[in-house]
Amino acid sequence: MSDSSIDSLREQFGRELASAASEADLRAIRDRYLSRKGGLLSALLKALGTAAASERPRLGQLANTLKKEIEQQLDERIAAAASTRAPRGAVDITLPGRRPAVGHSHPLSILRERIESIFTRMGFLVIEGPELEDDYHNFEALNMPPEHPARDMQDTLYLSSPMRSSAGSPATLLRTHTSGMQIRYMETHEPPVRLIAPGRVYRRDNLDLTHTPMFTQVEGLVVGEHVALSDLKGTLDVFVRELFGQERKVRFRPSFFPYTEPSAEVDISCAACGGNGCGMCKRTGWIEILGSGMVHPAVFESVGYDPEKYTGFAFGMGIERIALLKWGVEDIRLFYENDLRFLEQFPQ
Ligand SMILES: [Zn+2]
Repeated sequence: MSDSSIDSLREQFGRELASAASEADLRAIRDRYLSRKGGLLSALLKALGTAAASERPRLGQLANTLKKEIEQQLDERIAAAASTRAPRGAVDITLPGRRPAVGHSHPLSILRERIESIFTRMGFLVIEGPELEDDYHNFEALNMPPEHPARDMQDTLYLSSPMRSSAGSPATLLRTHTSGMQIRYMETHEPPVRLIAPGRVYRRDNLDLTHTPMFTQVEGLVVGEHVALSDLKGTLDVFVRELFGQERKVRFRPSFFPYTEPSAEVDISCAACGGNGCGMCKRTGWIEILGSGMVHPAVFESVGYDPEKYTGFAFGMGIERIALLKWGVEDIRLFYENDLRFLEQFPQ
């Protein structure tokens, strides 16, 4: 304990008081200096015992003077800060705003919206319909009568017996594709037709890297007089380039679907290897992305369109599959696990 330790504490206090920016800062300084237990001034006075006996009265007086100075200055500053404090309930408009946590759409929704926007720009209507469908709209009207072998291509989840019940009530099922909406639309509208039907569909698949029992489909239908295969190719060519990039090539490969004739699978050139062949495209340079074809005349007959007068094309794709390809995701299940670390990588 000496004159210099009193002076240095005074200087330290001066510096801290000068840098105090708020009432809370001032109260913290008061605690640090004036608290009875552990306060810097208590410690100073305690150290008085170490000074020479003849010096103690003088040093004690100096220390008390410092204490009074500190108390007075703090009281003044705290009173001044309190007088400018906003009244209870007031809004301090100078405070920075609290930023709300902003989320974004699920990657599958983002992709669905992009696909919808590409087709609506080409004049397509977007229609939606029931996920619970009857056998007629899901199969029969699409040229798949009972016992048709193509029904086995789509493992169906039935809510009532798939066999025709003796009471004759139609079987109810979770739709295996959104094609039923094409039938429903054509039943109630005359051509020309130009629509896409996006939505969830269900199949009895086990969960693995590339399969989920529920997934999202977008199907398209165009009907009119003189609609040709070249229109189908042109439409899908524009779609693929818009979605995957102008450099992507498209190829049509003959295939079979009961509701189209002729039918074609559509492949795009592999983005990973540029068409040279790699693991992702199984060394072929091509990746299948959708099925398509010219609408089968039997489908037109079931909705009352004249197959001699009208022609049309249809196509269908799985959004999850396109998401895997477009973003190079290897496991389809990631899209359904709701892990934000994954989902946040797909900004709008
Ligand atoms: Zn490849």
